[in-house]
Amino acid sequence: MLNLSIILNELILSLVIGKLLIHKLTVTEVFILTFSYFLIRESDIMNMFPTKKSEVISNLIKFCETELLCYSSKRNFDLGIPHKNVSKLSPYLSTRFVNEVEVLKIAVSKTNVESIEKFIDEIFWKTYWKGWLETHPWVYDEYIKSNRVQKVPSKTGIKCFDYWKDELLNTGYLHNHSRMWFASIWIFTLGYDWQSGADFFARNLIDFCPASNTLGWRWVAGLQTLNKPYLASSDNISYFTKYRFNPKGQLNEKVISKYQNHHNNKIVKFKQPERLQLKNSDELGIILNKNDLSINEIFDKQELTYHCCLFSTDHENKLIREFQTKIDEDILNRNKNFCLTKNYQEIFCWLIEKKIKNLILPYETVGNKILNNHQFKNKLKKLDINYVFYLRDWDRNAFPHATKGFFKFKKNIPVLMNLAKI
Ligand SMILES: Cc1cc2nc3c(=O)[nH]c(=O)nc-3n(C[C@H](O)[C@H](O)[C@H](O)COP(=O)(O)OP(=O)(O)OC[C@H]3O[C@@H](n4cnc5c(N)ncnc54)[C@H](O)[C@@H]3O)c2cc1C
Repeated sequence: MLNLSIILNELILSLVIGKLLIHKLTVTEVFILTFSYFLIRESDIMNMFPTKKSEVISNLIKFCETELLCYSSKRNFDLGIPHKNVSKLSPYLSTRFVNEVEVLKIAVSKTNVESIEKFIDEIFWKTYWKGWLETHPWVYDEYIKSNRVQKVPSKTGIKCFDYWKDELLNTGYLHNHSRMWFASIWIFTLGYDWQSGADFFARNLIDFCPASNTLGWRWVAGLQTLNKPYLASSDNISYFTKYRFNPKGQLNEKVISKYQNHHNNKIVKFKQPERLQLKNSDELGIILNKNDLSINEIFDKQELTYHCCLFSTDHENKLIREFQTKIDEDILNRNKNFCLTKNYQEIFCWLIEKKIKNLILPYETVGNKILNNHQFKNKLKKLDINYVFYLRDWDRNAFPHATKGFFKFKKNIPVLMNLAKI
C-alpha cells in the first residue's frame, strides 16, 4: 500500500509538472491533481506510524527482514518520507507501547547478533540517555528553568532547514541525522539557544523523550561531549540526503565552543526504587501512562489478576493528540476490562470503585513526572493504598552503568542482553 502510494505520489507530481510545462492544465485539473497529491501525502504519513500494536509489530518484522542487515550502512541517509532505512520505532519505544526486549527479540530472531550490532547499540542509546539523566537530574532542571522559547521563522531561506521544520510539523518525526543538522543550524547558524530548540522539538515530536531530546540538543551544542559541538556541513548534508539539499555557503561551518568552562561531573547516585512486594495481590491495580504503556504485560506473564486503568491527558499538539488517542484506543480494544482516566479525580474514583489496596505505577524517569508528586501520593496514603513506582529490570540493570560516556556503557550491552534473555 505504502509503496503504491509513493509511486502514485511521484506519478502525480510528474504529471503536474509535465502538464504545467506544456501549459495545458485547466483549473479543475490543478485542483484535482493537487488534492490527490496531498491525500496521498497524508496516507504516507499515516502509514509511517500505525497505531495498532499488531501493525507496529508486522512493520517491525518486515523492517527486520528487508532493511536490518544494511541498517548500519544506510541509517545515516535521510532519503525523505517514508524513511524506509530506519525502523521508525521511536514513537512506540518512548512510551513502551512496544518495549526494547520485544523489539530486540524479534530482531535477533531474524539474524545473528553480530550483524546487527549497530541497531542494538541504537536501541541502548535511549536507555543510556535515560539512565544518564537519572544521575544528572540537575541538567534537566536547569534546562526547564531556563524557559527559553523561540519563534521559528516560517522561512529562513535555508531550504533544508525550512523543509525539516515543515516535515516535523506535518509528521511529528525527523530522521536522526536531520535532527542533528537541524539542531546544529538552529544553534550555530541562526544563533538561537539550544534550550529553545529542545523546547520546539518537545512540543512537536511524536516520539518525544525528555532524556533523548534534552541530551541530543546538549550533545549538538557541545555540552554533552564537552567542547565538541556537532557542526552541520553542507557537504555532509548533500551526501547524506543524496543531493536533495545543498546548502553551500548558507551555514556557519566554523564554530568555537561557548562552553569552555562547563563540566558534567556532578553525579547523583541512582537510587534504585524498592522492589515490588505485594501484600495481597487480589486487590491489585495497575496504572498505565506514557512512562510505560505495557507494564501490565509483565504481570500477565506472572498470571496475576489485577485491575488496570490507562491515564492519558490530551496533548496540546493536534497531530500528537490524535496519534495518542488512537494508541489509547488500541490498548483499550485489546483489553476490554481496562478503563481510561483523564484526570486525578477519575483515577481516585477508579481506585475506590475497584477497592484497590496495592497499586503498581510505572517508574517515572527525569522529565517524565506524572503521578510521582506529593498531592497524588498523599491521597494514596489517605486511601490506605500501598504503591510502588515499578522500574523494569531492563532499566534497573542498565541505569547504574550510565554515569559516563556511551562507550563505557556499551561494554555492558552483552551482559544486559543476557539478563533480558535476548
Ligand atoms: C537533537 C535531537 C533530539 C532528539 N530527540 C529525540 C526524542 O525526543 N525522542 C527520541 O526517541 N529520540 C530522539 N532523538 C534520537 C533519534 O533521533 C531518534 O530516536 C531516532 O531518529 C528515531 O527514529 P527511528 O526509530 O527510526 O530510529 P532507528 O535508527 O530505527 O533506531 C531504533 C531506535 O533506537 C533508538 N535511537 C536511535 N538513535 C538514537 C539516538 N541518537 N538517541 C537515543 N535513542 C536513539 C530509538 O529508540 C529508535 O527508535 C533525538 C536526536 C537528536 C539529535
